[in-house]
Amino acid sequence: MWKGMRRAMACSFFLLAAVPAVRAQQQPAESRDPNAPSAPQPSGSTTPADLKKTAEVSTAANPLAPGEHSFWDRENDWLFAGVGAGRALDYASTLNLRRRGINEVFLTNSIVDNHPLFAGIEVAATAASVGVSYIFHRTGHHRLERWTSAIHAGVAVGGAIRNYALKTPH
Ligand SMILES: [Zn+2]
Repeated sequence: MWKGMRRAMACSFFLLAAVPAVRAQQQPAESRDPNAPSAPQPSGSTTPADLKKTAEVSTAANPLAPGEHSFWDRENDWLFAGVGAGRALDYASTLNLRRRGINEVFLTNSIVDNHPLFAGIEVAATAASVGVSYIFHRTGHHRLERWTSAIHAGVAVGGAIRNYALKTPH
């Protein structure tokens, strides 16, 4: 028993002596600046700083590649709302024009005068526009994706202004 106790004590003394020595050896490496050119790291080795950086990147709750955005982001929400509003204005202005006895130029009067059908075409045009934007988004053409909505909304609003501006024939 006495012998075992002495062995345990010797063991713990060895550990107490060894641990500070190991720490003293590691400290200069840890405190070394990883970016310092005078301290080249052996290729393939990763410093604790590198591991920390990688962990930070992988734990960031962002599944997108850098520079990408979610399709249903705030900007597209507004742009699609703009397309929808433009199409609604086109619908309202075209019916206003028909009430005033003016012929529709782009669609036939029979389509425009069928209000549920005409409304469905306006909704389909909005959906198709969003679909085209989505194709551009998925193929990495994010500027074209935005422009599709912006131009479509602009043309629709412009057409509505033109419809309201047309003089009623007397
Ligand atoms: Zn995009």
